Amino acid sequence: MIILDGKKLAKKILEDLKTKTEALAKKPSLAVILANDNPSSKIYVSSKEKCALELGYQSLIYKFDNTVTQEKLIALINELNQNSDVNGILVQLPLFNHLNAQQLIEIINPKKDVDGFHPINVGKLNCGLKPYAICCTPKGVIKILDEYKIDLEGKNVIVIGRSNIVGKPLATLLLQRNATVTVAHSKTKNLKEITKTKDIVISAVGIANFVKQDMIKKDAVVIDVGISKQTNTKIMGDVDFENVKNIASHITPVPGGVGPMTIACLMENTYELYLEQNKK
Ligand code: NAD
Repeated sequence: MIILDGKKLAKKILEDLKTKTEALAKKPSLAVILANDNPSSKIYVSSKEKCALELGYQSLIYKFDNTVTQEKLIALINELNQNSDVNGILVQLPLFNHLNAQQLIEIINPKKDVDGFHPINVGKLNCGLKPYAICCTPKGVIKILDEYKIDLEGKNVIVIGRSNIVGKPLATLLLQRNATVTVAHSKTKNLKEITKTKDIVISAVGIANFVKQDMIKKDAVVIDVGISKQTNTKIMGDVDFENVKNIASHITPVPGGVGPMTIACLMENTYELYLEQNKK
């Protein structure tokens, strides 16, 4: 069994970005909007900031309390869209309940949509055109599979989860690689019978130990996108790692699998948007 080491691959991508950034006269800049007091969101935003600063990027964090209005965030995004010093704009999700996330995503300039969530970028991805940015987590999953030379062509793959930020774009990227893709979700019946036939199982549900050993075919590749907290400190994936590792040929750990790849891809997207915006 081979552990798919996302942490190591992410480090390699970040080192490469750091070297490329050092050679730039003007640095890439990432703006992050945090309008939620959820502790996990605060941790995600501070890790993004730390990573951006380590690469030499400019990091702009806009934090709001629950008195913030939709209008104020719209005005901020419009201002960031106009500011040629800002290359990437990210709205950290979820937002306070009174705010409308989709409306904010849609007013981000697609050329600065570093998360790849804007309908223009989603549409380009679905049409097989090059989006300005590809959603970070699905992009990270494909990079891990590529790094370990896991061929996707003709493989039977199941993606468990159909969210706009993970399941759906990941299914699209897998289809582009000529995999035969099944997307499962909360209403799927007999999930175990389906997963047991798959060469690659990718889980993005958010329930600890959801994917058990008896759901996996011998020598399948298992990718765990899920993050949930079992206790205050311990981060759990969707996969019952200790048991599934005995049957899988390749498996991602949590932590140290898909998570670090998401942030590395966010930094790569920021750099790519910078290049696109500064092209002569
Ligand atoms: P989401 O809540 O939007 O989607 C969860 C999906 O799971 C839904 O599509 C739902 O239909 C499906 N689901 C729920 N119960 C199910 C069941 N019993 N059987 C089959 N499918 C079921 O979540 P999301 O934003 O897509 O994130 C999914 C998980 O991935 C979460 O744990 C999240 O924290 C994690 N995540 C991790 C990273 C990372 O960098 N590792 C990035 C994004 C999300």
